[in-house]
Amino acid sequence: MKLHRPTMMKHLRQEEEWDVCIIGGGATGLGIALEAAASGLRTALIEGRDFASGSSSRSTKLVHGGVRYLEQGKMSLVSEALKERDRLMTNAAGHVDDFGFLIPVKRQWARFYYGIGLRLYDLLAGSHRWGRTEWVGKREITNRLPHLAELGFIGAWRYRDGRFNDAELALGLAKTAAQHGAILANHCRAEGFIKEKGLVAGVHIQDVLTGEKFQLSAKVVVNACGPYSDAICRMDDPEHEDELRPSQGIHLVFDAEILKGGDALLIPKTDDGRVLFAVPWLGKVLVGTTDTPVDRIDMEPLAMEEEVAFVLDHANRFLGLQLKREDIRSVFAGLRPLIQGRRENTAKLSRSHEVGASPSGLVNVRGGKWTTYRKMAEDTVRFFKKECGLEFEPADTAVLALDMTNTQPRGMHPKDESELASAVTLAVEEEMCMTTEDFLARRYRTLFLDAKNARSSAVLVSELLSQNHGLNAEWAQRQSLDFQNLAQHYLPTP
Ligand SMILES: Cc1cc2nc3c(=O)[nH]c(=O)nc-3n(C[C@H](O)[C@H](O)[C@H](O)COP(=O)(O)OP(=O)(O)OC[C@H]3O[C@@H](n4cnc5c(N)ncnc54)[C@H](O)[C@@H]3O)c2cc1C
Repeated sequence: MKLHRPTMMKHLRQEEEWDVCIIGGGATGLGIALEAAASGLRTALIEGRDFASGSSSRSTKLVHGGVRYLEQGKMSLVSEALKERDRLMTNAAGHVDDFGFLIPVKRQWARFYYGIGLRLYDLLAGSHRWGRTEWVGKREITNRLPHLAELGFIGAWRYRDGRFNDAELALGLAKTAAQHGAILANHCRAEGFIKEKGLVAGVHIQDVLTGEKFQLSAKVVVNACGPYSDAICRMDDPEHEDELRPSQGIHLVFDAEILKGGDALLIPKTDDGRVLFAVPWLGKVLVGTTDTPVDRIDMEPLAMEEEVAFVLDHANRFLGLQLKREDIRSVFAGLRPLIQGRRENTAKLSRSHEVGASPSGLVNVRGGKWTTYRKMAEDTVRFFKKECGLEFEPADTAVLALDMTNTQPRGMHPKDESELASAVTLAVEEEMCMTTEDFLARRYRTLFLDAKNARSSAVLVSELLSQNHGLNAEWAQRQSLDFQNLAQHYLPTP
């Protein structure tokens, strides 16, 4: 079935009882929807805003084992992620790039230290290795990245990892899940649970676009709301105490010229001891990220002034540039769903993520990262069989090709008006694009690549969307205004 919202909504209301209802349409929820549907389970997924509108469109765009976890001794986490990296390269063929990452070093001891670590990274990948880590000498650095040589670096290690378009992969997961019979709806928010004898038996839902309220019954309900999971747990149990400690990360986006040489860059130690990446992406360069614990869990997290200053300062220091705020094309912030605290009734399946059930039977999936979404989904669906009494034969998604229909990576939206009109129609008919934000932030990545450009396109995109949805000029005006207000937050304050 196509990702066409009116058709999906019709099916969502028709079914009397679902095997599984998943709340949350980010990497975690969409991965579970695919795994469950491919295993023959009658699967519904509801997403309160748009697919991947949470953390899953705000990542550093790496499909990676995570070299920095080596320093923390998390070998099994790294090795698991490296396996998943390789599977994704095959299953989403053409949509994960095998990319070079440079770690520049200034001293011989650092060359030795990082050299050992990266050899271990290659070793942990085993048969899933993507090529050997190599030393790039001063001469090549001087030729390709003269800024680095001037800053006193004696060379760099180049290792391989993956790069992807996170929102595009999320849509690929949604399309593949739909092909396997899952029914998915964006802009449908879970508002509460139906309970029978104290056990969760379904979900109260509001269609955010029309205000309509309805409910679904399901044998198993899954909370896959990433950083927002604790709020869902409180709908089940008002006494629930937070189990996540979300941490905010921001990225700054610059024009491609700031990073020459064709490789990405990893700065191994910033002033606060974490790593910083500069990654060429869809014709721009992303620099990030920060790691700021936050108490407020906003749907639209905002970059803090000190975070912007921190990343800008490090970009200038390590790239030998004098970038100013005016050079920033976009700033975006996301929340990492980090696990902390009580672990009652949870089955800790790996160091990266946890699957467990609350006393009411609500299945909670926490933690993890984009790269390991498939493993999280596999563990969750096995949990349905082991702990929730569902009978089925699990599918082998390790070898399941994803429906990545776009042959060209989607960066900036088309400028040509007739191409734009076709792109909007396609996004509405086959990708459940409902709002101006859905189109300019995630069907295309304009908002993330160039927020000013996105703002100036909002009027036209809103008009085209209103024609496709059969809505009036007033709707288009409101959409355009809402989007312009949102995009303001993706521009740095002068
Ligand atoms: C700054 C940053 C950089 C990162 N970089 C990388 C990287 O390079 N590589 C990597 O592998 N991982 C990376 N990660 C981690 C990765 O992005 C996350 O682990 C992953 O996206 C989490 O997905 P999720 O589906 O659990 O959460 P989300 O994507 O946040 O999805 C949860 C969804 O639940 C929905 N929701 C909330 N409440 C409701 C409700 N009441 N009803 C219905 N829906 C609801 C939200 O709208 C949201 O879409 C990064 C994370 C951050 C923050």
